Amino acid sequence: MRISITDLCNLRCLYCMPEEGVCKKNHEEMLTFEEITKVAKIAAELGIEKIRITGGEPLVKKGIVEFIGSLSKINGIKDIAMTTNGVLLKKYAKDLMEAGLKRVNISIDSLRPEKYAEITRGGNVYDVLDGIQEAIKLGMAPVKLNIVVIGGYNEDEVVDFANLTKDDDVEIRFIELMPIGQAGSWAKEKFISNETIKQRIGNLIPLPHQPSSPAKYYKLPNGKGKIGFINPISSHFCGECNRIRMTSDGKLKPCLHSNQEIDIIDIVRNNLPQLREVMKQAILAKPQQHYLYTEGFELGQRNMSEIGG
Ligand code: SAM
Ligand code: SF4
Repeated sequence: MRISITDLCNLRCLYCMPEEGVCKKNHEEMLTFEEITKVAKIAAELGIEKIRITGGEPLVKKGIVEFIGSLSKINGIKDIAMTTNGVLLKKYAKDLMEAGLKRVNISIDSLRPEKYAEITRGGNVYDVLDGIQEAIKLGMAPVKLNIVVIGGYNEDEVVDFANLTKDDDVEIRFIELMPIGQAGSWAKEKFISNETIKQRIGNLIPLPHQPSSPAKYYKLPNGKGKIGFINPISSHFCGECNRIRMTSDGKLKPCLHSNQEIDIIDIVRNNLPQLREVMKQAILAKPQQHYLYTEGFELGQRNMSEIGG
C-alpha cells in the first residue's frame, strides 16, 4: 500500500508540481496521522505487509518520525519504506531508521547542480547527495535512486547515473515520464523510452526478475549495484501490479492512471467498522491494465504530487 501523507513539497519539479505549488487544503480535508494509522491497521488485517510513505514530500510533514514509529508497531506490517526527494534526509535518516523505516527511494533527476535546480525549480543537489550518503552509511539497504528522464533535459546524464552503480551498492531506477497532471500536455513530446536509455548505456547484464518489483534489473559488468527500468508506458506491468494507493485527503486509488477514487475520509471518521469491506472492494476494483495514450483516455485530474507516484 502506498500512502501519501501530504500534497505539499519543498521542491517544484517541472513534471510534478505547478510553479506556485498546490493550494494548502483545510486541516479537516486531510487525514491525520492517527487516522492513517487506523487505515494501516485494517490494511494489515487484510493481508497488506508493505507500506510505502510518499507525498508531496513526506519529510516536510511535522511528526513524521513518530508516525513511522506508530506504523512499525502494527501487527503484520513487515516493511515500511519511503519515497523522498532526499533534501531533508540527512537530518532525519537516523531517527527514521530507529523508528522503523527500512528503506528509502530517493528521487534525483540530475547530478549537475544547475540542471537539478532547473528541473526542481530551485533545489540544491548537494542536499540530496548528502542524504544519499547518509542513507548508505546507515545501511538503509538497498538505497534506490529514482530518475525520470526528460527529453532535452537530463537524457545526456544516463551513463553518469549508471556509473554510480560501479562502486556503490545502490539501485538506479529509470522511470518513464508519465502524462499526469503537470506533465499531461508535454510528456509525449519529451518522452524517452527506457529501451533508448538501455541502448545508450550498452553492455548491461540482465538479472533475474522479481515479480513484486515494477522494475526490470540489470548490472554493469563488475558493477556493485543494479540498474532498473520501470516502463509504465512502453511495456506496462499492470498484470503484476499489486499496489493500492491512498491520497492524503483520504481517497483510495485502485490504479495510478485512473480517475477512479473511493472516498474513505468519512468512513474513517464515523464508521470505522465498515472500512474493512470498503478497502476490500477497492482492492478488487483494480483494473486489468491502464489505458494511457489509448483512444478515449482521460488525463488524470490530480498532479503526481497529489497521488504520491
Ligand atoms: N517527493 C517525493 C519524491 O520526489 O520522491 C515523493 C513523491 S513524488 C510524486 C514520487 C515519484 O514520482 C518521484 O520519483 C517522481 O520523480 C515521480 N514522478 C512525479 N511525476 C511524474 C511523472 N509525470 N512521470 C513519472 N514520474 C513522476
Ligand atoms: Fe516534490 Fe517529489 Fe513532486 Fe518533485 S517529484 S515536486 S520532489 S513531490
